[in-house]
Order: sequence, then structure tokens, then C-alpha cells
Amino acid sequence: MRECFEIRDLDAGGRIGELTVPRAGVTVETPALLPVINPNLDTLSPRRMAEEFGAEILITNSYIIHSTDDIRERALENGLHEVLDFPGAIMTDSGSFQLSEYGEIDVTSEEILEFQHAIGSDIGTPVDIPTPPDVHRERAEDELATTQDRLERAQGVETGEMLVNAPVQGSTYPDLREEAGRHANATALDVFPVGAVVPLMNDYRYDDMVDAVAGAKRGLGADAPVHLFGAGHPMMFALGVAMGCDLFDSAAYALYARDDRYLTVRGTRHLEDLDYLPCSCPVCTEHSPDDLRALDDDARETELAAHNLHVTFEEIRRIKQAIRAGNLLELVEQRARAHPTMLDGYRALLDHAAQLEQSDPVSKGAFFYTSQESARRPEVVRHQQRLERLSVPESLFLTEGQPTSSDEFDDSWRVEPPFGPFPRALSKSYPLTAEVPDRTDRAALEAAAEGVARLVEANPDTDMTLGHRGWPASVLECVPASVALIDLTAE
Ligand SMILES: [Zn+2]
Repeated sequence: MRECFEIRDLDAGGRIGELTVPRAGVTVETPALLPVINPNLDTLSPRRMAEEFGAEILITNSYIIHSTDDIRERALENGLHEVLDFPGAIMTDSGSFQLSEYGEIDVTSEEILEFQHAIGSDIGTPVDIPTPPDVHRERAEDELATTQDRLERAQGVETGEMLVNAPVQGSTYPDLREEAGRHANATALDVFPVGAVVPLMNDYRYDDMVDAVAGAKRGLGADAPVHLFGAGHPMMFALGVAMGCDLFDSAAYALYARDDRYLTVRGTRHLEDLDYLPCSCPVCTEHSPDDLRALDDDARETELAAHNLHVTFEEIRRIKQAIRAGNLLELVEQRARAHPTMLDGYRALLDHAAQLEQSDPVSKGAFFYTSQESARRPEVVRHQQRLERLSVPESLFLTEGQPTSSDEFDDSWRVEPPFGPFPRALSKSYPLTAEVPDRTDRAALEAAAEGVARLVEANPDTDMTLGHRGWPASVLECVPASVALIDLTAE
């Protein structure tokens, strides 16, 4: 376990943790949001972020500070905490973004790390190469090699108590992301931003983002604190947390406000399209949409930024509570309904259900089946893996109905979509206490049929009979031919 990070609660791949930031003398509870502060603009002051919004940590760009004479001198003289007037932890970015946008920057990775240390940053960042999506593999490999070289050299920079980020790159190649994660985790560096996912999010490619992060997570392992770098829209936080991301940064709250855009957990709205404000934050309870539209540009931008940040922190709190309650995936399912591309993201997450299963607690509150995607959740995967280890008699009746009183079978097990078969003695154990709709769907039936098939595969010598409630032929095709079928609805 890394000294600076401790995990307290788990749900799916998500976790509540504590990131200890020694230089700031603070412990940040994760998942955490880092508002992005542009040192040249003060939409909302860092002091207000701490006092009104409860921000424990923020992020600012050391390259902008380095390139701006008066701020650089003040930061070197008085320290970043005093210049920004922020009592929590401060992370600094390095200029990698400027490098990717403009092709060059005028400092080396070592110089900017030393500068970050000199101005009192609590978490610094070397200059990595943010490789965009879909580039040729050779380029992704070359640039990753450069990033890895810089991470190795960052270990030699005198950074004192400052934690140091080890960005994980690899473009849209999950195997490169995995290798990058493994390499970064083997360094002495502390926090692990998954980089260059912003272009994927800008194009609504949440499924590709999930695959990139899942690759990075496989390499990093369970104990590493992970930052989904540049992910600031509250709509996708639940998905990001469920993948195992611990830190998010938001420039969106301010950038969107500048364009009169209003953030919600179901997507972005334009102020001119709003007849009502669907939010109870101080901004939205004190103003109508017309009030906001009537403000001058600066005041409107400040109010919208405040709303955007309120809704963003609110979602982080909601996610933490969901982890505590064990229903994070139910929240991800709700968020996945906000946009078809979010649904793609959730479906991609479920492609990694076996990976999530490794951290998912064996017992939680009730499993709620709330969409056909629920049939692919890690809890279902785990149950079906467990089926292979259960001992079975010579003949077995698997039924959605009552156990038979005849002595035709040695035992009778329940069948419950989406889980499939299980001994009645397990009925009261998680996740078989699930709340499922009476009007089941094909995905749940197919998953149950898959469970029957797994049981048959593990026990080829047992005679099995399945009593089902009118399963369609296409679902029954998934049941091995050796299983005798009884349609209970025909009786
Ligand atoms: Zn609001």
C-alpha cells in the first residue's frame, strides 16, 4: 500500500479513500474534485472555494505561473498558498497541455518540477507527452517512452515532501495504457493521472475512455490513487469513480459559465433555453433564469460558475454516499440514461465486470435490478463463478417455481434471473436477495440461462431439469441440450 493513500470503502471499482498530502499538512477524502484555478483569472476565489464549497484541494498550472513575470515573482517570494489564498492542498500541472497545443514549451521537465517545489506546490507534475487518441501505434509507443523516461528522471529531482504525479499515457491502446500503468506504479512517484482522455470526452467517446482507464488500472493495481485528468463534467463522475478513479479536476465549471452554459448531472443546458432552474443551490434558489439573464456579463459568469461548482461538488458527495451504501452501480445506471454515449460508457464498464469484481465487496445492501445492463454487473459474474464451486447431487431440479415434492430429484434449487440457479440455502445471502422487477427482460433471462450452462459445464454427470416460466426459444437455446425442460406456465 502506498503511504500517501488509504482505501476506506469499496463498491464495484469505486472507493472512498484518504490521500495524505504531507506538504500541505492535510488529508483529502477521495473521490475528490479539484477546481482548476487559472492564476490570471479569478472567476471564484480559492478562499471561497474552500469556505463555501468545501474544496480540500485545487489545481493550478505552474507553467502559466512560470511564464507570467509578476505572478512568478510573487509565487517564488511568498509561496503559492499565499498568492492564491487557499488553505487546502494545491496540485500543479506542468505545461504538458501547452506542449500538446503549441508544440513546444521553454522549460524542461526537471526545471518545471524544481519550480513547482520552489513555489510551494503540494503535488507536482513532470512534463509528460499527452498522446491524442487514434494515433499510429508507433507514435503512441515513442511518446510513451519519452513520458516514461521523464518519470524516471523525476525521481531524481529534489522535491522534498511534495508528492509527484506520474501520468499514464498510451493513447487509445489499452495494452499500452496497462504497460504505462505498470511502469508508473513501479516508480517512487505518488499519484497517477490518466492523461489525454479529454479528446475522448469532448467527442463523447465514453466507451473508449473506459477502455483506456481500465487498461491503466490493470497496470497500476488496486492501491494507486488515480486522477482522471481533465474530467470535469459531473455527468460522468459516477462512471469514472466506478472504474476506480479517485481525483477529478474541473475547469468546466468556469469555462462553461463563460459561455452561459449550465451544468446538470444529466448534461449541459444553455441558459437561454432554461425556463426553470432544476437545482436547489444558493444561486438557483435566489435567481430565476430571467434574473440570471438580466445580469451583466461578469456577474452572470460568476453566478453560473458558482452553480456549476455546486452541482459538481454535490455529485461527488452523492457518489461517496452511494459507495458507502453499496449502490454506486445503480447510480451509474441512472447517469447512463442521460445520453446514449453515457450508456455506451456503462456498457463498456460492464465489459470489465470481472476486473471490477476483484474489488467489489462480497456483501452489500440489496442489489437493485434497474435496467437490462444490470444482468452484466460484477455481482452476477461473481455468482456464476461461484456456481462452479458448489457441490451438486446426482439429479437436480432447477426451478423458478416451488420445489417439487416428488422424489424424482435429489434436490431442488431456485432459479432467479439474472443470477441463474442456486441452492435454496443461499436465498438470503447477497446478491440473491436482489430486488428484481416482476416483468423481467430478455437480458436477465439470458444471464440466468448462462448460469444454468455454467452449472452444467462444471457438473457434466448430473441429471438436470429446468423448470422455467415461459422462457422464449432464443433464451432456451443457451441452455445445454442435456437439460430437460419443463415450462411451468403450461401447467
Ligand atoms: Zn444551482
